[in-house]
Amino acid sequence: MTKGKERIRFDCTGEFNEPHIYKCSECDHEFRGTIGGNEKRELQLNCPECSIEETIISQPTQFEVVGVIENAS
Ligand SMILES: [Zn+2]
Repeated sequence: MTKGKERIRFDCTGEFNEPHIYKCSECDHEFRGTIGGNEKRELQLNCPECSIEETIISQPTQFEVVGVIENAS
């Protein structure tokens, strides 16, 4: 199975519900996440390292947006 090549754009934040790379402000862990991307459509992010959780209203405050992930396929 081949997956489309992914491209990460570091210079913009893209659409709210696109997958992004986030960086945790607590432990500096970088992870990918999608706001509203789970089955409940909850606007939540949580860090897989330190389990910080935030419900996003407009922009995350506990998490820094590193880049947006695009499919280049
Ligand atoms: Zn963390």
